[in-house]
This record gives sequence, structure tokens and C-alpha cells, in this order.
Amino acid sequence: MSKNRLTQLVEVAVPIPSPQAYTYALSSSTSTTVRPGVRVLVPFGPHIQLGLVLGRAMRPPDTATVKEVLEVLDPEPLLPPGLIELGKWLSRYYMAPVGEVFRVMFPPSLFSPRAARKESKKGLWPTRKRRMITAALPDETENVTARQSQVLSQIAAMELPVAVHEAVLQTRSSAALMHRLLRAGLLHIEDVELYRSPWGETDYHPGEVRKHPLTPGQRRVVGEITQALEAPGFQSLLVHGVTGSGKTEIYLHAIEATLKQGLSALVLVPEISLTPQVSYQFRAWFGEQVAILHSNLSDGQRFDEWRRVQAGTARVVIGTRSAVFAPLNRLGVIIVDEEHDSSYKQDETPRYNARDVALKRGMDEEILVILGSATPQLETYHQALQNDVHRYQTLQSRVGQRSLPTVQIVDMRVEFQKHGREKLCSDLLLTAIQSRLEKREQALVLLNRRGYASALLCRSCGYTETCHNCSVSLTYHQEWQRLSCHYCGYSRTLPQRCPQCRKPYLHYLGVGTEQVEEQLQALYPQARIDRLDRDSTRLKGSLQSILQSFHSRKTDILVGTQMIAKGHDFPGVTLVGVLAADQGLRLADFRSAERTFQLLTQVAGRAGRGDQPGEVVVQTYYPNHYSLKYACLQNYEGFYEREVRFRQRFRYPPFTALANLLIRGHKEDESRSIALELARSLVEIRNQVSDARRLRVLGPAPAVFPRLKGQYRFQVLLKTTSRK
Ligand code: ADP
Ligand code: ZN
Repeated sequence: MSKNRLTQLVEVAVPIPSPQAYTYALSSSTSTTVRPGVRVLVPFGPHIQLGLVLGRAMRPPDTATVKEVLEVLDPEPLLPPGLIELGKWLSRYYMAPVGEVFRVMFPPSLFSPRAARKESKKGLWPTRKRRMITAALPDETENVTARQSQVLSQIAAMELPVAVHEAVLQTRSSAALMHRLLRAGLLHIEDVELYRSPWGETDYHPGEVRKHPLTPGQRRVVGEITQALEAPGFQSLLVHGVTGSGKTEIYLHAIEATLKQGLSALVLVPEISLTPQVSYQFRAWFGEQVAILHSNLSDGQRFDEWRRVQAGTARVVIGTRSAVFAPLNRLGVIIVDEEHDSSYKQDETPRYNARDVALKRGMDEEILVILGSATPQLETYHQALQNDVHRYQTLQSRVGQRSLPTVQIVDMRVEFQKHGREKLCSDLLLTAIQSRLEKREQALVLLNRRGYASALLCRSCGYTETCHNCSVSLTYHQEWQRLSCHYCGYSRTLPQRCPQCRKPYLHYLGVGTEQVEEQLQALYPQARIDRLDRDSTRLKGSLQSILQSFHSRKTDILVGTQMIAKGHDFPGVTLVGVLAADQGLRLADFRSAERTFQLLTQVAGRAGRGDQPGEVVVQTYYPNHYSLKYACLQNYEGFYEREVRFRQRFRYPPFTALANLLIRGHKEDESRSIALELARSLVEIRNQVSDARRLRVLGPAPAVFPRLKGQYRFQVLLKTTSRK
């Protein structure tokens, strides 16, 4: 390493959406300490920005324009070298702005434009500190009163450090007395760092470690995992276990084995706050070594958890998608629970899929990656079968001889003819709910659409209220008496008359969860009904209290969106009702059948997890659709066989790679012409390569939502048999 040359150049990522990293020069005074993963302050336009050093700059640009790094902020790299490489790869692979990629790797208080403003004001490491008493000297009490000496001994016997006011309270003394002792130098005071724990006070019950004797199936999978952990190199394993087969227990054993080897473990879950029991279990098994990372934490909590990971005190990380970048050293295993879940995909820049990034990280670090699901992504299963990419383990039965629930499909066309009008709940479902209420068992009712009604229609002139910014109709929310857009957040008060013809014939179209709750409450006035969706959980703590009261059986019926289908383990649930099961099938997406199959299988999997068997009632207007049929039979293989034929025939993944290029802009004409130009030049480029037929350029066409958040959207689709 050359130490003292003024021209040493480094590549620096800045937390802004710019596609590339920037080159800066290091002066001789700083260059020795700078390694990749260290933060710096750099001049950036008229401002000072925070930057992350990614490495030496490859090719020196015009040296005249290169600016100098102003200050090096960290003595040691904040990220292990592997993560810097992973970030660079991710930025290339997903064509994501490099600064934004590294931004998601850090807690916001360390690397963001906001943090930059603080750092340039000499803000330090964003820990929280408090002045606390760290020691008391009861033996040096020559010049003190008996009372003071007594207080000193009391403090010396406490668990230190202790806050001053706390010491006053516990010793029943006064602030004045404390200050006298302080001034006399008999108490020591220091700034002590406080740990902002992500665990609520009621969250953790250390007494509840329950290690079950493993079932034969679990034992087989755990055996396979232990073997894989001992072998060197990258491996991936798909654990395909039906709902209730006890996958969490398997993960816990895998992590235990990993920790025994002196290595650390990373567990990704779709949504942490929805299934808090899972994180309690981790905490019960591994105690303080567990860190939690997700976006619902406060900035302070996120920073403190992240730092425990970075410092190596926390060796087990459980977190949502961005936790795939947790700065764990000596990683031994990565587990992706519910690997099919769409919440691993981030739809904003930087767009990435945490499941895929987990596999890439596992390859780089040459370790085992475990993918678990009852309904694996079609591609994952296909790979496991066809090319032997993933090893495969299956668990066909539930823990404890519990049976999978029985599923019945109700044809809502027949129901309509029977009653002469549309009904929300079929007779079969109503009877089933009634019997649950009588037996004091619990029911879940799924409708994957929130709000009261999905549109407001004028029956006189046909007008429907649509969003100003998006090409969608506004949803009516009764709770707030407002119409709101589920894409951009725009909302307006409910009109009393039609805004177009001024007549009062407004009519609600399309039922949402709010209305389901209302109708069920009218039918069963005695029942305790609650609702779980994005609206009902908006207030802090509301999600926890809804789940808690359902768990402790204070609620009889829980109505909700797909949020109720996620990995919950509610032993009291013996009935699951699915309204409008076919709703997702109408989306113009080649994955819609797969998504529907997954949602139904998962929600059905919530029934019968206790001592009583479960029953599922699925209502639909398309009772013959294969995704519904196979979901009802809980037959993954059957669904796969059918779906894979469709994918092959129409050349969808896994048989091709698709790339959707989205062109967005505020002017429709401009966006369209840019999309046209893009498509034209792609065709030209394609015609120049030898194997032109392998790449198809489709479009441009208006995107699925031609207008969203005020922008016009066009898409160009690339279909190819070779991803490269
Ligand atoms: P999955 O994630 O596969 O749907 P879970 O991990 O939620 O299943 O396990 C379902 C239930 O079975 C949980 O309540 C869990 O505590 C329990 N369980 C798991 N393994 C065992 C076992 N070996 N013996 C008894 N109960 C078990
Ligand atoms: Zn909108």
C-alpha cells in the first residue's frame, strides 16, 4: 500500500439515487486509515455529503476535477468486506443506484442524507447516553454524616450503573444530598450508553423455553442440515413442509448447531410483527444473542441492534428483507422462512429480492442456505426437481398426528340462484360460523381487500370516483368517512351527491373487510369480532393487541386480508372462511394462479392447529379453476404439474427470464416516446447479436396501472431464454 501519495483515489457511494459511485482523492494524512466500509465526509455539489468508501478507484478520472475527502469518520470498517462486494453485485444485477443499495444496509441514523446533515454538524455515533452513577465509595466517609454514609453504602450495593433520580428514589434521599456526595467525589458519574431494546416489556418470557422431542420427520431434516453444516462450501436446501409440520423447530436446531461451531446465523421472515411468537421462541432459545432487525423499530432501536450485530455480541439475527444485509461476521447459515412470500421483494429502489440476495450471500460466503415453505415458489421447486440446484427435504404431515383441514368449495353462482341476490356468506359458511360460536372455537374470515367498498358508483349517471394521480377507483373507508387511493394515499371526503350529475344515487360496489366485519356483527350480535388489515393496525400497538386478544381467545372471529394467512399459530382456530377466493385470479400477471394457490393453502393451513380438526370453506365464482382445486386438496405437486405446463407453453419463468422495463414520467407524450425509442433501440441491439431469436422485445404498452402517483407509466418487456 502506498501511504503518502496525495493521489490515492477511492470510490465512494453517497446515499442518493445516483447510479454510480464517485471518485475522491485522499490526502496523505487520512489515507492510511481508510479501508472499504469506512464512512467519510465529502464535498458534494454545494453541500457536504456522507459517503461510504467502497475501495480503490479503478481508473483515475481527470485529476483536475477530483475533490478531496474532507474527513474520515470511522476508524474501522462498519461492514465486513463480503457485504461491500454483495452491495456492488446487487447494484449491477438489479441495476439499482449504488448509494441507495448501501443505504439499506445501514440503520438510517448512520448512512442517509439525514445522517449526513447531522454528521457535518459533528454529531457523533448515534447512541443514546445518560449520566449515571457508576460507583460509590462508602469507605471514604470521614467527612460525611451518618445519613450520607448510609446512602453511599446503599448505592454501592445496587446494581450499577443507576440513574441519579433512580438512586434518589431507592435510597429515599434527595437530589441535594446526591449532589453533595458528587461534589465530594464520593460518587462517580459517567455517560453510560443505553440499550434501546426492541423487545416490549411483555414480549419476552424467559421461562417459556419449550424444546419438543422432534418428530421422525423433523429429526430426518435436522440430521440432513447438521450434515450439510459440517460440509464445506455453498449448499442450498429446500425444506418443503406442510403447514403445521413444525418448521420453526427445525430452524432452531439448525441455529443451535451453527452456534456450536462458533458461527453466526441469519433468519429472514416475511413480517416480524405479525408472528411475534416466532421471535419469542428464538429469544427463549438463544437469549441475548438474538438481534431483531426490521423497519418498524425506532431509529434508535435499529441502530442499537445493528451495532450489537456488528460488534459480534448478537450472533443470531432474525429480521425482514433488509436484514439480509446484517453485518454478521463468520456467518454459518442463512434461513429464509416462507421463501415464496412476496414481501421479500422490495418494489421501490433499490428493487431487490431478499430471498435471491440470501442465496447470493450464501454462495459468496460458502455456507448453507435453507429455504423453507409449505408452498415454495414454483421456480424454487422446479430447480429442486429439475437441475438439482437445491437439495430437497419434505415434511408431509403435521406435528402430533394432527390432520390437515378438510376444505369445501362453495360455488357462489349456485348460491346466487338459490337466493336471487348476491350474498356475502354462503349458507354453508354461516352454519359453520354459528357452530364455532356455539362450541367456543375460533374462526378466521379472509377477504383480501381492505376498506368498506372498492368503489363508489352513481347509479344515475354511471360516474365512479377515481384518483387524481392514479388510474384506479377510490376505496370507501367507512371508519374515516373518506374515499382513499390505495396506491398514492390521496384521499377526499365522501361526497353526499354524485360530483357529476348531482343526484343522490351513490352506491357502493365491491365488498371490503370493513363491510364484512359490519355484516358479520349484524348477523351475530353476541360474537366478539375483530379485524386485521393495514387500516386496523395503523396505530402503534394495535397490531399487537388484535393478535393478543385473538390468541387469548377474547375474540371469536377475526376478519382480515392476507395478513391473517401468514404463519400464525392459533390453536383455537377450527374454521377458515375464504370470501372471493378468485379475486387474485383476475390480475393480469402470470403469477396470479400461483399467488392464489399459495394464499389459499396458507390460510387453510391456519385451521386445525390445536386439538380439534380444522374445516375450510372457500367461496368462489370459478370453482373449477385449478389453483383453487389443488389448494383445496392441499396438493402442491398436483398444482405444480399443472402450472408448469402453462409456464412452459407460454414461455414464462422458470423457462425464460423476464425483465420489465418501466418508463415513468409526468408527461404522457414524452414518456410514451421515450418508451418507443427504448424498445426500438433494444430491437436494434438484439438484431446485432448472433442469437437474436432468443431475446424478444415486447411493447411498449401502457403498464398494468397506466398512471400511478401522478406519473404515466409504460412498459417494455424482455423475454429471453438466457438471463445473461
Ligand atoms: P409450520 O411453520 O411448519 O407451519 P410451526 O413451526 O408453527 O409449523 O409448528 C406448529 C406447532 O407445532 C407449533 O405450535 C409448535 O410449537 C409445535 N411443534 C413443533 N414441533 C413440535 C414437536 N416436535 N412436538 C410437539 N409440538 C411441536
Ligand atoms: Zn392514487
